[in-house]
Amino acid sequence: MAQKRDYYEVLGVDRKAPAEEIKKAYRKLAIKFHPDKNPDDPTSEDKFKEAAEAYSILSDEDKRRRYDQYGHAGVGNGSAGAGAGGFGGGFSMEDIFSQFGDIFGDSSPFGDVFGGARASGGRRMRKGSDLRIKLKLDLNEIANGVEKKIKVKRHVACTTCTGSGAKNGTALSTCTSCNGSGQVRKVVNTMLGQMVSSSTCPTCNGDGKIVTERCDVCAGEGRLMQDDLITLNIPGGVGEGMQLSMSGKGNVPQRGGVAGDLLIVIEEEEDDLLKRDGNNVVFDMHLSFIDAALGTSMEIPTIDGKARITVEPGTQAGKILRLKGKGIKDLNGYGRGDQLVHVNVWTPQQLSSDERATLESLRHSPNFQPKPGKNEKGFFDKMKDFFH
Ligand SMILES: [Zn+2]
Ligand SMILES: [Zn+2]
Repeated sequence: MAQKRDYYEVLGVDRKAPAEEIKKAYRKLAIKFHPDKNPDDPTSEDKFKEAAEAYSILSDEDKRRRYDQYGHAGVGNGSAGAGAGGFGGGFSMEDIFSQFGDIFGDSSPFGDVFGGARASGGRRMRKGSDLRIKLKLDLNEIANGVEKKIKVKRHVACTTCTGSGAKNGTALSTCTSCNGSGQVRKVVNTMLGQMVSSSTCPTCNGDGKIVTERCDVCAGEGRLMQDDLITLNIPGGVGEGMQLSMSGKGNVPQRGGVAGDLLIVIEEEEDDLLKRDGNNVVFDMHLSFIDAALGTSMEIPTIDGKARITVEPGTQAGKILRLKGKGIKDLNGYGRGDQLVHVNVWTPQQLSSDERATLESLRHSPNFQPKPGKNEKGFFDKMKDFFH
């Protein structure tokens, strides 16, 4: 067994060093030798623990005075046997963090290791499971947003025992397996020496308390499964597969804690007449070529019901009419899309002999000869005009 090193030597400070300097020196060593930062150096953990041990004595006024006077024997660990590793009795990394962690402040260099260790100091807050539901919306609901009241089967806290699971809310006793900490510790022998691992107490499930007499209403669970009426405010502009979440509307965990979330997955119901294109709505309108030539007034569907539009005389097939602001609300609040009406001209497929004769008489009329001008752009140019 190696001789224990002098604590001042370990921290690299003078015997007269003030408390602030000792703290600084330890902080530097702890960061340098943190095992997570030195995965390839098996001795780093020992050095880390050695520094922690030195700091535990020198940072305590009383222990430091005794150490100064009597050496290692003065602080109860001078016997040969304690070993260079110090804390041979099973001082874990976690202990070091929970005891001295505060000197690192909030900007801890240790990330999760440190955070986890700190959290284990108290009982952890349990979170219930999330619930996921599918919500089918029609185009109008998607366009304008909608308030939906839905029934959700979920675990809610038992009001009789206020979620504790104990009769009258008071029949609780401290768990004797963990003394109320909710954590149990176990010493494990590893290659690096003895380590202490902590885990959730199996007796109380981490609650730190035992229900001595169960609540009659929830049979000690602290929660009840029931239909809950939940109001969902769906914003306009949501789309297929989008997931919205309502925090705290999922399941409440057993015997108290934070409820999980309610996740709402959007399903778009397809409309027979109107097609969605981003925030725009597209309608394919079919005109007879007589209406296209003479002009007419037509009733067409929109997301807010029927609307009447005017077709100018001489309207060409392929023209796109725009109904401004008749589309879908932008999800991020940037206004609203439009309804685009795509003009199709219907060519008759069956003609009576009279009809044929009438059309035949017009066949060579000069006004019926195609004369596309600059204004009659091709389909792709028109699309370009709309989208660029
Ligand atoms: Zn326990
Ligand atoms: Zn209850």
